[in-house]
Amino acid sequence: MKKPLLGVAVRQVLAAALITSCSLSALADSGPREAKHIILLIGDGMNIEHEIAASRYLFGNDFDLSFHTLPYQGNQSTWDVSTYKYWSDGIYDPQAIRPTLGYDPAQGGAAPYPLSPEGPGAEGYLKAKATDSASAATAWASGYKTDDGNLSWLPGDPDTGGNRTGDGSLKTIAEHLRELKDYAIGVVSTVPFTHATPAAFVSHNKSRNNYGDIGHEIIATLKPEVVIGGGHPGYDGSPTNNYIAAEDYDNLKNGVYGAEYVFVERFPGVDGGLSLLTGAQQAVAEGKKLFGLFGKEGDGNFESLKPNDLPATPTVTQATRENPTYTEATLAALKVLSQDPDGFFLMAEQGDIDWANHANDFQRMVGTIKDLHDGVQAVIDFVNQPNDAIDWRNTLLIVTSDHSNNYMRNRTVLGAGDLPEQTPNCTGSQCYPGGEVTFGTTSHTNELTRIYAMGAGSRRFESAELEWYPRVRILDNTQVFQVMMAAAGVPQVSPLRIRK
Ligand SMILES: [Zn+2]
Repeated sequence: MKKPLLGVAVRQVLAAALITSCSLSALADSGPREAKHIILLIGDGMNIEHEIAASRYLFGNDFDLSFHTLPYQGNQSTWDVSTYKYWSDGIYDPQAIRPTLGYDPAQGGAAPYPLSPEGPGAEGYLKAKATDSASAATAWASGYKTDDGNLSWLPGDPDTGGNRTGDGSLKTIAEHLRELKDYAIGVVSTVPFTHATPAAFVSHNKSRNNYGDIGHEIIATLKPEVVIGGGHPGYDGSPTNNYIAAEDYDNLKNGVYGAEYVFVERFPGVDGGLSLLTGAQQAVAEGKKLFGLFGKEGDGNFESLKPNDLPATPTVTQATRENPTYTEATLAALKVLSQDPDGFFLMAEQGDIDWANHANDFQRMVGTIKDLHDGVQAVIDFVNQPNDAIDWRNTLLIVTSDHSNNYMRNRTVLGAGDLPEQTPNCTGSQCYPGGEVTFGTTSHTNELTRIYAMGAGSRRFESAELEWYPRVRILDNTQVFQVMMAAAGVPQVSPLRIRK
């Protein structure tokens, strides 16, 4: 099924829709109440072209995913210190940042394609150097820019100068909100719980690859109220992965952490979503924390949902019920966290979107975004439930992506249920002989990502735009930290200064 590319008229409608988002968000953000509940939902490695592709598969329209209904819709720069240094002769001064060295709208576009045309040579520019998930999550978690690979640790890996314990580590939003507001904190991921995105919120390390140390800090020191993710050692077929130290796993399962945590793990023939939600119920009844450890052999992630090529009949298949879906994991987390009368902070990541995108795997990408779409809708429904203490006047929901990936472009418009013909391994990844989609790389790109928000404090995103990029409505990823902290009623002074 072939139709022309997104036309000029459609782009104008989109531009108009972006402008009216201001007035809509006023409706969803009335009153002065603080955000007692902050829910940050991440599609790792997802850009707007991936969102459009998944929306077309599921609904036959470009912007019909659950998060496309949120009233605030903006664009976010994601560059890290490594990207910045690539363009600045190796110099990064946090007191004199020139944002256009990290991302230049004149070259990459004032909004992500197809919302805005890119400048000449944009593909090469955007592919040249991009953030990784560790530094991108550090920006959201701490408000600092850092190097590739660092988890809430200062750039350059110093042993002093951080704002946490005097070493190079950085206090995360989870730590701030627990300390200042007594919020419960939780992290969820469909990839190993010690992977970069969740880890940056609840651990500190000079390298994202130190899985054992990262896991030990999470389990033995930080002890979030909820941890749910992959990385189960019994399903981790690769000896190099080791997403959790043997002793920590043993202590969770049998020993010293049992008094604090209800521990739920993958088990052959057992419905993982159901056992996790039952575990959450038990944790609530017993006043305990919740730890869910799942994942599959090899990579340690939950098996991705798989869409079927059935034109006009979009359907998605789950490979096994032994892992929870993103929705079930997120709802289990909310069940436990919402017990805290002081409030909570939850970060929940659909992490396999990025893995599908590294492989240029369109089919898997659509399935993983469907997983995120379902989870976001479930969270919206959860907040909308009547007769409880959680509503949009005290809850801030953010849906975004840490970085883009693979420079995918939709070349023809596929209808609902329609997938392009896809064959593996012709150029090291996937081939699309019909030309419906093209890919520019198997790595991250420095394209702007989308950010969607609703609820208490979400209007702060509008006022934060233009602070970093004059005349262009782009948010920097470190500003997400500032907005969340201000929304919670505990604004922080940014450690970064912009050189105008
Ligand atoms: Zn990646």
